[in-house]
Amino acid sequence: MGKGILVLGSSFGGFNAALHLRKLLGGEHDVNVVSSDPLFTFLPSLPWVVAGMTDPAGVQCPVEPRFRNNEIHYATDVIVRVDPEKHEAVGKNGVYGYDYLVAATGSELDFDAISGLGPYKGFTHAVFTVEQAVMARDALRALLEKGSGTIILGNAQGASCLGPAYELAMIIEAVLRKRRIRNKFRIVFFTNEPHLGHFGLGGFGAMTGMLEDEFADRGIEYRVNAKIASVTKEQVELEGGEKLPNDFSIVVPAFYGNHAYMGVEGLANPRGFILADDYLANPKYPNVYAVGVALAIAPPAPTPVPVGVPKTGQMTDVMAMKAAHNIAADIQNGKKTRGKDFGVVCIADAGDTAFLMSANPLFPPRNRLIHKKGVYFHWLKEALAKYYMASVKYGLPMPTF
Ligand SMILES: Cc1cc2nc3c(=O)[nH]c(=O)nc-3n(C[C@H](O)[C@H](O)[C@H](O)COP(=O)(O)OP(=O)(O)OC[C@H]3O[C@@H](n4cnc5c(N)ncnc54)[C@H](O)[C@@H]3O)c2cc1C
Repeated sequence: MGKGILVLGSSFGGFNAALHLRKLLGGEHDVNVVSSDPLFTFLPSLPWVVAGMTDPAGVQCPVEPRFRNNEIHYATDVIVRVDPEKHEAVGKNGVYGYDYLVAATGSELDFDAISGLGPYKGFTHAVFTVEQAVMARDALRALLEKGSGTIILGNAQGASCLGPAYELAMIIEAVLRKRRIRNKFRIVFFTNEPHLGHFGLGGFGAMTGMLEDEFADRGIEYRVNAKIASVTKEQVELEGGEKLPNDFSIVVPAFYGNHAYMGVEGLANPRGFILADDYLANPKYPNVYAVGVALAIAPPAPTPVPVGVPKTGQMTDVMAMKAAHNIAADIQNGKKTRGKDFGVVCIADAGDTAFLMSANPLFPPRNRLIHKKGVYFHWLKEALAKYYMASVKYGLPMPTF
């Protein structure tokens, strides 16, 4: 009898998992996707949206046509609870049964942890949706028109998605320099990491020195081991008493996994990230797989201020492929592949140049470590962004590293 596989989420993790499952399983089994957002957003392009370098319309497209062409059933719904005993995901509009579940719901943003944080109830901008990026872009434009001020980019305590604040600091700096107004603005970067280039991975070789030099050359001030005390309309106050003028700020918050998994004994950790073994399957509920940001990964070592482990889009794509392979292996009695054996490949953009970083395994000591700087990596990132969107829309082979 055919099995039903339910994929929650349709971003990097869910989109790729569903397509791989369809390819590996043929037409015999059902692949269903339920996601809260009918649009795929290429999140790595959002810093360019903030800087006015990319049209927001070009970083999104609907997922349903591509799923339909691949005989994948799609529904837009917000899952509020998963009951792994009953093999059910409960949404606002319906209940979805499954034989196998792929949790690819990413994260929820914990703005409430810090007074005044966030773009809706607080006074900092964010860059996790097109709407947020456009709000930040408009606020930045208004500040530039005003002619002078302080621009703050930061990673809050507990944050794990650390790259975008680095990118934003350097991209915005490059924009100001190009417009010959760099001297009118102070740029301050702060991070929960113990040093620049820690990235929640325990460091990335010589990247620490490279970033210190880069920030010195660009006149970007930075603070490490930073913890925000509070944010108001007027200022961002760090623990220790430093007060920074809040003319414009983008701060990356800590993440939750998803409230739908919280409190289900054995399924998720207390912050709602799914627990999984080396094969990406939950130890208590082995028919539940987790990929991408939804997966719990413990930090390699404690840090003075909490820093989470980043899960990049590239890592998420690899996990999606491996989870799909392992579900197919479960169903077809095949051999499973170790899902957590992955490294990271990332291009951190800096506006007029970029850094290519690659490490395997994720945490030191490593078998491979590459970090290089060059304008060609900026061009490569632009080309990859266009190609990835075309893959999602038209079914070109997805780039996999
Ligand atoms: C600004 C920015 C820049 C980045 N730059 C890079 C980069 O340069 N390179 C790189 O590799 N990575 C980058 N990343 C990271 C990358 O975007 C993430 O790793 C990737 O999006 C993770 O994919 P995911 O599928 O796990 O989760 P997400 O992308 O967060 O997607 C979650 C999905 O689940 C759905 N969902 C959420 N909750 C529910 C619910 N309750 N019910 C149903 N559906 C739900 C959402 O609608 C969405 O479809 C960047 C991220 C950001 C924010």
